[in-house]
Amino acid sequence: MEQPTNNQQCTHCGFSNQPGSLYCSRCGQWLSSWRPIQTIEPIPPPPVEARQAVPLPPATTPRTNSLAVAGFISGLAGFFIFGVALGPLAVVLGVVALSQIRKSGDSHSGKGFAIAAIVVGALAFFGALAVLIWYIPLQLLGFSL
Ligand SMILES: [Zn+2]
Repeated sequence: MEQPTNNQQCTHCGFSNQPGSLYCSRCGQWLSSWRPIQTIEPIPPPPVEARQAVPLPPATTPRTNSLAVAGFISGLAGFFIFGVALGPLAVVLGVVALSQIRKSGDSHSGKGFAIAAIVVGALAFFGALAVLIWYIPLQLLGFSL
């Protein structure tokens, strides 16, 4: 192992320092090519999170409650045929659908369908009932509609 034998002459004040000196013992100037090892490199700023705050779609996409739709369709059909039977069916389906929607939170949508099923079903039922109330006596009396 050979130490550098030449004296380290200070470029700042000209003082001849001991070989191997890192800095001038008189003025403190750093000698030769030695540099204080800057281990502290400029730390790059942490990478900006690529993840942006995009709201993820809910795990369960809201879907229209099928019972509510079925009830609504039953209620609509009840306006034309079998209103006495389809009307109550629509109301029951709408009520069940509403309770399902209420229990499951937001996982089921179609609350409007469920309410519409109840309303339409009730209208179809009472409409059909009114027709029957008029229709049956008229039939009994021999009238044909
Ligand atoms: Zn010096």
